[in-house]
Amino acid sequence: YGHKIKTDELSFGKGKTSKDKANRATVENVLDPRTIKFLRALTKRGIISEFNGCISTGKEANVYHALAGENAGGTSGELAIKIYKTSILVFKDRERYVDGEFRFRNSRSQHNPRKMIKIWAEKEFRNLKRIYMSGVVPAPQPIEVKSNVLVMEFLDRGDGAPSPRLKDYLYKDELEIARYYYKILAYIRLLYQVCRLVHADLSEYNMVVHDSKIYIIDVSQSVEPQHPMSLDFLRMDIKNVNGYFEKLGIELFQERMIFQFVIA
Ligand code: ATP
Ligand code: MN
Repeated sequence: YGHKIKTDELSFGKGKTSKDKANRATVENVLDPRTIKFLRALTKRGIISEFNGCISTGKEANVYHALAGENAGGTSGELAIKIYKTSILVFKDRERYVDGEFRFRNSRSQHNPRKMIKIWAEKEFRNLKRIYMSGVVPAPQPIEVKSNVLVMEFLDRGDGAPSPRLKDYLYKDELEIARYYYKILAYIRLLYQVCRLVHADLSEYNMVVHDSKIYIIDVSQSVEPQHPMSLDFLRMDIKNVNGYFEKLGIELFQERMIFQFVIA
């Protein structure tokens, strides 16, 4: 994963060695001092033991690999750390997800970007926890959230690399394609009926194939059925999933049939 960075080396002080400088350069490009402070605190508390390189750089967040500390809980020993970017611009359109959201109303922080990002990370953590605890839809185990830093179970491929997103997954045969399609439709329904959530950004980019199962990730924007736009988001999710499987050439269900199946 590129540079290995021990958390005690996450420093903005004046490093003397060239390694210090390299680490500082790597870190400074992506992590602001407050984020580093939170990572250090997580290390002190024994959640993280070693902070490694980047798994993914996104528009709104980067995901890093880390080794679990002794207090991280019952996981494989590896962690995925999602760090929301603290720059303001990309967070603008988030308000429409949080605005209609009963759970986050009256949190007066909606116009302070820092607080907004914190709310966003907490929202992903809570949604992830709800899915994980339900036991009916696979999701990475949420471990900790601290401001813009979310710590969860790392979904590994077995050889240290992250498990592939559905987009990058190579199917064994056509039967497997169809099985995954039906499975995903069932998960959309279980998310709705059991977890009381609509993913709202569901696509082949936000599902990971791990241990021959489909894991749902990236649930920061997920909303409850009471959200005024939840059914629009649901239709969008269904459309994305059908669009992806259409390209794989299997026979599809009509979107409005799936919609009825999910909400009925
Ligand atoms: P946004 O699109 O909101 O900026 P994002 O898409 O960058 O966020 P995620 O989708 O949550 O954020 O994660 C990005 C990528 O990181 C995923 O596509 C996946 O490849 C990898 N990833 C995320 N969580 C895990 C995990 N728990 N284990 C392994 N890999 C993960
Ligand atoms: Mn994503």
